Amino acid sequence: MGFSFLEILRNAAGGHRGWRRQWPSPEPKAAYDAVIVGGGGHGLATAYYLASEHGMRNIAVVERGWIGGGNTGRNTTIIRSNYLWEESAALYDHALRLWEPLSQALNYNVMFSPRGVMMLAHSVHDVQVLKRHVHANRLAGIDNEWLTPEEAKAFCPPLSIDPAARHPVIGATLQRRGGVARHDAVAWGYARAAAALGVDIIENCPVTGIRRDAAGHVCGIDTGRGPIATRRLGLVVAGHSSTLLAMAGLRAPIESYPLQALVSEPLKPVIPCVVMSNTIHAYISQSDKGELVVGAGTDAYVSYSQRGGLHVPMHTLEAICELFPTLRRVRMMRNWGGIVDVTPDRSPIIGKTDVPGLFVNCGWGTGGFKATPGSGHVFAHTIARGEPHPLNAPFTFDRFRTGRLIDEAAAAAVAH
Ligand SMILES: Cc1cc2nc3c(=O)[nH]c(=O)nc-3n(C[C@H](O)[C@H](O)[C@H](O)COP(=O)(O)OP(=O)(O)OC[C@H]3O[C@@H](n4cnc5c(N)ncnc54)[C@H](O)[C@@H]3O)c2cc1C
Repeated sequence: MGFSFLEILRNAAGGHRGWRRQWPSPEPKAAYDAVIVGGGGHGLATAYYLASEHGMRNIAVVERGWIGGGNTGRNTTIIRSNYLWEESAALYDHALRLWEPLSQALNYNVMFSPRGVMMLAHSVHDVQVLKRHVHANRLAGIDNEWLTPEEAKAFCPPLSIDPAARHPVIGATLQRRGGVARHDAVAWGYARAAAALGVDIIENCPVTGIRRDAAGHVCGIDTGRGPIATRRLGLVVAGHSSTLLAMAGLRAPIESYPLQALVSEPLKPVIPCVVMSNTIHAYISQSDKGELVVGAGTDAYVSYSQRGGLHVPMHTLEAICELFPTLRRVRMMRNWGGIVDVTPDRSPIIGKTDVPGLFVNCGWGTGGFKATPGSGHVFAHTIARGEPHPLNAPFTFDRFRTGRLIDEAAAAAVAH
């Protein structure tokens, strides 16, 4: 069902009782040409591009819960591409270029809002690190600019630039093309568009095992709804990547941590952009409903609990109150956690594995939402052709053997 102006008028006149399901809920077939495990944004985008760009229609997305119920529906939706290393900046900028026309491509409003992402510097070290990012990005043809404290305040008026503050703002970077999008809509838009091309979206279907034939090639999966045969299997399960890879006998250099976020009561528009401070570890934007969306840090311990220690968001709120004294009396409404899959260099792993027929897309850690369209696009290419797209070729498992890391960890303490 389309969202044409006529359809909206017709349904408005009919009390909105005429809308049909956006995608069907099929029973799993016995076999597919390819199966994607994980119905988050990345898995759904992969299926969409497999169908739309590579003509693969006999495919399924298998999700253990409901689509978008993992990190896709739990994140703070910051989108930017100003990463330090050329490999990462190219991959994230590929994603940003797909975000820009995404609502039109999917005929679904993902509410991409390029309102600008500002990253604050509080010390000489921050200034050096962030200016290095600006220069590296501009050399790679990616927009990023340096702001004085006064320019930062002009861009975001409620920001305090009091020089006597404990962590004074002494400069900032700004990527104007960065912003936010509506996370649920991204999952729903990709699901709907993929289903329209014939992809089966199978929810409530946990994968419990990976089958291999006598030659070691992937030949199927076991699920809570029975076995499914396939010779091409893509794992896109974020915080559960190491558990799924273990089902195929593989060990991954990944640790899973809870990462928390919280939202305030709705307010009138007050924060016009996204503001991030890596040093005092806080980031904030305002949703279209008016809630302040605040991101906290990861817990210090690994866990699969989808909740974290209260002291972590408390620390973040202290930082927010220092940056925005005007928000001190705002009440917070909800707090939650997601499980993020963190690699040693904080860059993702996208590609083939040592098991023939098994592909993996993981390790996006605390910052993969922004990559959703680009990640799905290059992963679909990798699965369809059996070889990586040039943009994900450097993001292999092999870099942990060769030492050729893409070290965004050292480049930025926080990478949302
Ligand atoms: C609090 C928080 C804030 C964040 N903020 C940002 C941000 O501002 N910007 C940004 O770019 N990124 C951010 N991120 C990171 C971002 O959310 C993730 O990197 C991204 O959403 C990962 O998408 P995904 O589709 O790979 O994973 P998910 O959306 O987690 O999807 C994986 C799916 O796999 C399913 N699954 C797991 N095991 C199985 C199984 N055995 N069988 C079947 N299905 C299974 C899960 O149920 C889940 O739905 C944040 C994350 C969190 C938690």
